[in-house]
Formats: sequence, C-alpha cells, structure tokens
Amino acid sequence: VVIYIFNKYMLGNLSRTLAINEELANTDQLTKLLTRRSLNALYQQNCYLSKKNHQGLGVCILDIDFFKMFNDSYGHLQGDDALVQVANSLKNTLLRDTDHLFRYGGEEFVILTLTDSEAKLDELMNSVRHTIENLKIENKASLISQYLTISLGGVFIPRNYIQVDFRVVLKIADNALYSIKQKSRNAVSILTITQPLENKAKT
Ligand code: GH3
Ligand code: MG
Ligand code: MG
Repeated sequence: VVIYIFNKYMLGNLSRTLAINEELANTDQLTKLLTRRSLNALYQQNCYLSKKNHQGLGVCILDIDFFKMFNDSYGHLQGDDALVQVANSLKNTLLRDTDHLFRYGGEEFVILTLTDSEAKLDELMNSVRHTIENLKIENKASLISQYLTISLGGVFIPRNYIQVDFRVVLKIADNALYSIKQKSRNAVSILTITQPLENKAKT
C-alpha cells in the first residue's frame, strides 16, 4: 500500500511538472503571448471552424519597422519594453475567440483569424497598424515616421480553398510582408487565394 501511494504521489508530481513545462514552452516569457509551437494546432482549429461557420481564414505576419534602429537608439531593454507594449495592445485589439496571436520570433508576430472577405481582413490589419502607430512610441531613427510602426503581410483564404498545410499559407503571408517592406513600410499587403493551393511549401 505504501509503495502504491508513493508511486501515485510521484506520478502526480511528474504530470504536474510536465504540464508546467509544456505551458512554459508554449508561452513567450517576455510578452506572455503564445509561441510558434501552438501555431499549427490553432490553425487547424480555425480550418475546422472556417468550414463550420462558413467563413474564410486570415493569416498575417506582422513585423516592427526599423526595430534594429530602435534598439540602437534606445537600448535593448527599452526595445524589450516596446515589444511588450506592442504585444499588449495587440491582445487588446484582437478579442474574438477565433483570433489568435503569437510571438513568432524576434520582432515578428502572427495573427490567425476567421473573416468573410479580403476587405474585412484589410480592415482588421489596418486597424492593428493604426493601434500601434497611435501608441506614439518614439522611434527617432525610423526613416518613415517619428513613431514606432509595423508592416503586415496577410493571406485571405476563402473557405472553399482552405489549405491545411500551414507552412504553405505562412509562406504566402511572408511573401506579402516581404513585398510591402520592399515597397514602403507602416503598410499592409494581402494576397487572396483564388484557386486550390498545392500541398507543398515552396522554398
Ligand atoms: P525592417 O523594417 O526591415 O523590419 O527592419 P528591422 O530593423 O526591424 O529588421 P531587422 O531584421 O534588421 O532587425 C530586427 C531587430 O529586432 C534586430 C534585433 O536586435 C531586434 N530584436 C529581435 N528580438 C528582440 C528582442 O527580444 N528584444 C529586443 N530588444 N530586440 C529584439
Ligand atoms: Mg523581422
Ligand atoms: Mg522589422
């Protein structure tokens, strides 16, 4: 009996430790947002909900403009502070159950959402962009604004072209982000899927 109780106790401890580790790995310690580890699972959930709710999918990558210069001007700690401010205001802007927010890495974030049209996704992305601009975090070295700004690349996937391979989708959003960074900044760019996507991520 003693051995049984002891084993049960140890097993309980172990599963609690595993759960804590899992949560730590899925949470970014600076911003308290989800890390990219949970991206695929929540994307699959939105694919399912997209069919169920008869809505399309929106996936965006958001990147802070001239953030290296921000760090160079104000120091890395203030850079960290700005990342937290950006993350918090994203959390307060994206409030629907089907909106999911991640720190993708560095000064990049990913937004997953359900939406009806490219126009609605554009509205959401621009409202996020304005929210960050309106924080009025000074970025004196920025070449395009006196404040910290972001650029967003997005993809709108109508529900009849839902693609479950998340890498394919993210690559398209990343291409949109790249194109807007080349053209300008503090702006958004969206690609809409108009035919079934191939199942392989092109590099
Ligand atoms: P662009 O407008 O083209 O995106 O320019 P950028 O300077 O933002 O892009 P770049 O990729 O050259 O630099 C990203 C910077 O983000 C460099 C890196 O030091 C900073 N960064 C990444 N992660 C963190 C972080 O956790 N804290 C701080 N303070 N800075 C970070
Ligand atoms: Mg970047
Ligand atoms: Mg950047």
